[in-house]
Amino acid sequence: MTQILIPTPLRAYTGKQDIVQVAGATIGEALADLTAKFDDLRAHLFTAEGKLRSFVNVYLNDEDIRYLQKEATPLKPGDTISIIPSVASGSPSAKATGDEVAIVDAPARTTALTPEDFQRYSRHLILPEVGVEGQQKLKAAKVLLIGAGGLGSPAGLYLAAAGVGRIGIVDFDAVDFSNLQRQILHGTADVGRSKLQSAKDRLLAINPDLDVDTYETALTSKNALDLFKDYDVIVDGTDNFPTRYLVNDACVLLGKPNAYGSIFRFEGQASVFAFPGGPCYRCLYPEPPPPGLVPSCAEGGVLGVLPGVIGTIQATEAIKLILGVGQPLVGRLLLYDAFTMRFRELKLRRDPACPVCGDHPTVTALIDYDQFCGIAPAASAPVPETTVQDLKSRVDRGDRLFILDVREPNEFQICRIPGSTLIPLGELPRRLAELPQGADAPDIVVHCKMGGRSAKAVRQLTEKGFTRVQNLKGGILEWIDKIDPTQTKY
Ligand code: ZN
Repeated sequence: MTQILIPTPLRAYTGKQDIVQVAGATIGEALADLTAKFDDLRAHLFTAEGKLRSFVNVYLNDEDIRYLQKEATPLKPGDTISIIPSVASGSPSAKATGDEVAIVDAPARTTALTPEDFQRYSRHLILPEVGVEGQQKLKAAKVLLIGAGGLGSPAGLYLAAAGVGRIGIVDFDAVDFSNLQRQILHGTADVGRSKLQSAKDRLLAINPDLDVDTYETALTSKNALDLFKDYDVIVDGTDNFPTRYLVNDACVLLGKPNAYGSIFRFEGQASVFAFPGGPCYRCLYPEPPPPGLVPSCAEGGVLGVLPGVIGTIQATEAIKLILGVGQPLVGRLLLYDAFTMRFRELKLRRDPACPVCGDHPTVTALIDYDQFCGIAPAASAPVPETTVQDLKSRVDRGDRLFILDVREPNEFQICRIPGSTLIPLGELPRRLAELPQGADAPDIVVHCKMGGRSAKAVRQLTEKGFTRVQNLKGGILEWIDKIDPTQTKY
C-alpha cells in the first residue's frame, strides 16, 4: 500500500480524508485506485481524455513525477504521493480600475546610517550576517508589495520594521470588516478607508524614515512592467490567478525575484520564483485551473493566522535576497499545513520548456491574463437566474419550490433561507437522488453565498438533465439585504 496525501481543496471529494491508502505498482495504478475509490475526484485530476490535468502536480516523496517516469514511475513500500493543485488565495474578481499609474521617481536615498538607525537596528547590527553593511543594503532596498491584504500585511510590517528603505504597495480595495480577521495592517477604525492609506499610516507609524509609494490601481498587463522596474524584489500577495501569472511573467521578463506566497483554508505555499537560473511559477503550473474547479478563499475560507506565517516567510526571503545571505527558497516549494502543523518541502526545477523562462520562450511580452485564465466575460455561459424578490413572492404565494442551498454546513448555521435544503456543492454529484425529479417535480432554485457556486450547481444539474433549475442572483447575502435583514451576514 502507498499513501496519497490529499490537499484541502480536494478533500471534499474524498469524504474529508487527508490521507488515502491505495494499491498499485506505479503512480498511474495508484491514482487509478484512488479515483476508483472516489469517483468524484476523477474530473478534478484528469481530463476527459484521461490525461493528468496540467494544473495538478503529482509528487513522489519530494520529486515531481514529471522529472521521474511520470505515471509509469514505480512505487516502493513506504512511498508517499502528494497531489499539489494550484490555489489562489481569494476571489477571482480582480478588475481593472485604470491602467495608467504615475510612477514616482525614487530620489537617490542616502544609505548612511544615522545615530537613530544605530539604536533602532542594533539587534541587526550585532548580527555578523547583517551588520552595518547589511543594514545599509536594506536602507537602499526597494520592495514592491502586490496587495495590502492577508499576505501583504505581515510582509509589509516586517519589511518596514527591518528598515527596507522604500516600500511600494499596489492595491485598490477599501478596508472591510471581514478583512480584519487576518489583514493586520488595518484596524477597526480603518474600515471603509483605502487600504493603501491605512497601510501607509501603519508602516510609517512603525518606521517614519521609510518612503512608502502607493499605487491605487489594479495590476494590469499595461502597467506591471513600469511598476516593477524600479524595485529590487516583488512580494506576490495576490489573491487570484490572472494577477498571479501576470506577476510571475513580469518578474521573469524583468529578471526580478518574486517572493511568492499563497494560502487556502489551513494550507499555504511559499517559494522564490524568477531568481536567475531558478524556476518560475509557470514551471510549477504551466496553466491555471479552469475557473470554478478550485474554490477561492471567499468560498473556502482561510484561517486568519495562516497568512501571518506565509507572509512572514515572504518577508524573510525578500530580506535574505537583499542582504545576499543564506539559502533563498529557490527551486523549492515550501508547503505548510497549519492544521497538522507540518512543513514539507518539494523540489522545483526550472522547466527548459517553460513558456516564459524556458530555453525557447513563447511568452516574451505580457498577455491578456483574464483570457489566459478563462475568465474573460464570455467564457462562462450564463445560467437561468431568478431574483430574491421573485423568490420571496413565489414563497409567499405558496408555489411548489425546492430551494437548494449548496454552501457548506458551517455557513448554513450562520444564516439560511427558510425551507431550503442543504447539499454542499462538492457532494451534489452523488446526492442527485435527493432532488425532486419527474414531470410534476417542483422548480429548483439554487443559492449559495453570492451566486458563484450556485451557478456551477445549476450548470451541473442542467448537464444531468434537470430542466427547471434557476440560480438565485446575489445569493443569500442579497436575500438578507433585500428581504430579511434580521439574519446575520458573513
Ligand atoms: Zn518557468
